[in-house]
Amino acid sequence: MKADLWITEQQTEDMLISFRIKEKLHEEKTDFQHLSVVDTYTYGRMLFLDHCVMTSIKEEFVYHEMITLVALNTHPNPEHVLVIGGGDGGAIREIVKHPKVKTATLVEIDGRVVENSKKYLPEIGAAFDHPKVTVLIDDGIKHIQEHKDEYDVIIIDSTDPVGQAARLFSAEFYQNVYEALREDGIMVAQTESPFLEKDKQLITRIHQDLKKLFPLVKLYLAYIPVYPTGMWSFTLASKKHDPLQVKPEDIVAINTRYYNQDIHFSSFVLPNFVADLLK
Ligand code: SAM
Repeated sequence: MKADLWITEQQTEDMLISFRIKEKLHEEKTDFQHLSVVDTYTYGRMLFLDHCVMTSIKEEFVYHEMITLVALNTHPNPEHVLVIGGGDGGAIREIVKHPKVKTATLVEIDGRVVENSKKYLPEIGAAFDHPKVTVLIDDGIKHIQEHKDEYDVIIIDSTDPVGQAARLFSAEFYQNVYEALREDGIMVAQTESPFLEKDKQLITRIHQDLKKLFPLVKLYLAYIPVYPTGMWSFTLASKKHDPLQVKPEDIVAINTRYYNQDIHFSSFVLPNFVADLLK
């Protein structure tokens, strides 16, 4: 008999998502946010920050493959990669699999996310100790200002644009990302859901801000079942290389469960209502 125990995220003012839980594994108030880890029947162990779903064992591969491998396969030589946020470790785990990556730097503001991911989500936090990886517990806003012309790929794997993450979606921050990238660098940011009114405006604004800086700005989609509406967007901005000009035979997809050559290209095919946001 399953206990009547549930955890609920208020996704919008008018929308909730709930998961029946087997067990609450951990809960704490860090210096930055409320953090909890629960074991759910449908998605296994899940990480929540400020009561919002971050990731889960059963479906995390979609997000972590898609936020990393599209850019890593677009850049011909992605040697030095930076992740801002990403404290669960999933993005870093995917990055170090790529044979051309030499260094992967993670800048996560809240060390307790890293520690709890190592302990409760070891399948996701599997690469923090990899020889190519450097973990810095710091504000991504500060780090990006201190590093110029240094990275081939920068991935902004942040929480939603509120609190300490809000500035990770600003035009000023993107200017600093541009300057931290090398002359043919690429950045990718998770840019929320095209189905939500508040996010539609964000997607349009981000696209416009990035178009002022980068010659190539493209949006691509993936399907994240635990995120609001399930349709999720990523915005890729590139100083030179076009993701749609990659030779299919050059695409590296090692042990992936979502990303593949066809997905690399098809994820950029947009429904009309999404394409309209970018006009
Ligand atoms: N959506 C992601 C996923 O599916 O895994 C969540 C990635 S991760 C949990 C998001 C991280 O961004 C959080 O750990 C949060 O602490 C971090 N973060 C928020 N603002 C930040 C900042 N200014 N600098 C660095 N990290 C930040």
